Amino acid sequence: MKMDSDVIIKGSRTRPNPFKLVPCEKYGNNTEAPFILNLSVEALALIDVHSHCVQTEVIGLLGGLYCSRYRQLNILTAEPCESLTAGTSDLQCEMDPVSQADAFERLTKAGYQVVGWYHSHPTFVPNPSLRDLETQAKYQQLFADGNQPFLSLILNPYSTPHQTLTKNNLVSKYKCLMLSEHISSSQNESRTPYAFNPLLVRREKLFYNLTHRLEELCSKIEGKPSTLCITDKLRGKDMPYLTKILTSLRHHFETTGLSKIESERLVDQIRAILLEHLRSKPNGK
Ligand SMILES: [Zn+2]
Repeated sequence: MKMDSDVIIKGSRTRPNPFKLVPCEKYGNNTEAPFILNLSVEALALIDVHSHCVQTEVIGLLGGLYCSRYRQLNILTAEPCESLTAGTSDLQCEMDPVSQADAFERLTKAGYQVVGWYHSHPTFVPNPSLRDLETQAKYQQLFADGNQPFLSLILNPYSTPHQTLTKNNLVSKYKCLMLSEHISSSQNESRTPYAFNPLLVRREKLFYNLTHRLEELCSKIEGKPSTLCITDKLRGKDMPYLTKILTSLRHHFETTGLSKIESERLVDQIRAILLEHLRSKPNGK
């Protein structure tokens, strides 16, 4: 009996905390990025709205195209999935396998390659946790067999409640990362996560595609227990969630060179969609 309890105690002492966040190295410093990364603002905006409007961690797949000749990966769209732990945790989530298979099929049917996965860190920095790295290692290995890269995008929509609302922390933070091939002795013999410096780009038919996809997303999350009411105010702040979301989106649109007038026109259309679906709380409260 004593032996057993010793083993358990020892085990719990030595097992690293799976939620521990691991800082990323940056590609470009001493290590060359394996490819050029372009991120479409349509994909980023979808992920940003999904992450903002659900209070727990959200998860999904990334669709895009990889050109091995030019070593360029274009992330073109995102496909939201259901989480197995939906509504129970803001620290971890796992993709529901049925929803993952559906998302995979939708992307491939639309002519995309599945090039990565995304998830949110609702109120903490977008560095991967040890568990995220385990998941990334499995996916990366699986897709490497098909000679295709597979990356992870982590987005953090909200700063912690005690932070003041400056323009800087109204804009979501995100990281696109992959694991190094070599093992690092300084990181507990694990592979080091490397963050890309992606170029945010705008595709044709942005207005049509994005509003269409946001309608789909909002219909999907509308009325769920963890979906928030966007006219409510941020915890402890005098600002509705809606204002926070639109400020972040506006910043992404203008980063791609969209004019202020055009950006505002798109923001107006998105505001209308969000208000139509996510205004009242579930059960009409
Ligand atoms: Zn995570």
